[in-house]
Amino acid sequence: MDKLYTFGKYLRNKFNKNIKKVPISIPGFTCPNIDGTVARGGCVFCENESFSPNFQKEKLTLNLNSKENPLLKKQLKALKKQFFDTVKIYNNIYKPESYLVYFQSFTNTYAPFETLKKLYDTALTFPDVIGLSIGTRTDSIEDKTLKYLKDLSKDYEIWIEYGIQTSNDKTLKRINRGHDFKNVKETIKKTKDLGLNVCGHLIFGLPEETQEDMLKSVEDTIDLGIDSIKFHPLYVTDNTLLAIEYKKGNFIPISEEDYIDTLVKAIKMLPSNISIQRMTAGTKNLLSPDWCRDKATQMSHIHKALKEAGIEL
Ligand code: SF4
Repeated sequence: MDKLYTFGKYLRNKFNKNIKKVPISIPGFTCPNIDGTVARGGCVFCENESFSPNFQKEKLTLNLNSKENPLLKKQLKALKKQFFDTVKIYNNIYKPESYLVYFQSFTNTYAPFETLKKLYDTALTFPDVIGLSIGTRTDSIEDKTLKYLKDLSKDYEIWIEYGIQTSNDKTLKRINRGHDFKNVKETIKKTKDLGLNVCGHLIFGLPEETQEDMLKSVEDTIDLGIDSIKFHPLYVTDNTLLAIEYKKGNFIPISEEDYIDTLVKAIKMLPSNISIQRMTAGTKNLLSPDWCRDKATQMSHIHKALKEAGIEL
């Protein structure tokens, strides 16, 4: 890639509109890697609060084996409130013309199908919503959910965002991911065979990974036929398994220099049809590394490095 192809550009080219993603966190949603179905404790870096401003403060438990969902009313209310609250803020800053509802926190295909259908359908009734982006794991999406999303994609812009993180099985085990890369390959193939849009999420700086490992993950991810990609540095936040290891001196976060060097090399590898949804991440709620505290500064360093590498912004 010689010219940066962002997801914003993809949306503008396709719809000729200013479109924003509205992040949503559904109360009662969880993850099979947290609730014991696959594992307990989650990925070593998981503290879902760091992913979303709409993170659930109230813990609820959803019985996945029951078609009845006593939480549904509360979930629909939360969906509506979060959407309209965020739209109000966006209207003052970005003045978007349309929205993608982004089911972001936890595993957003891990609930009874009837619940998912109701939530997705409701989100699509909100004003100026042109589609959905659904964050999930490759081991947690049923065929009937994929089929339903395929049907929705005839009328709406539908994206499925899979956490890949790395293609290295040793690392996947090390970070307690609960699935291997074979599972990623199989699910993404199935999703692509249905013609759905796929975004893959990768993390640079995972424990014991070299730059070679990280770029191999990029190569393997491109080979999956994804349509869009997100890059994220591994940072340490409190209340995670990684924080315990970091405090014991067992984990050293990636430096900003190494992260940006890897990122620029990764972007150069991307074919021109893969849009980029994220190049880094920042959080104030951080133990380490300090350079991840301020996303705006990171972005200016990244833009400078991309220009120096001959990538047009
Ligand atoms: S898959 Fe996501 S929600 Fe589940 S444990 Fe890992 S980071 Fe947390």
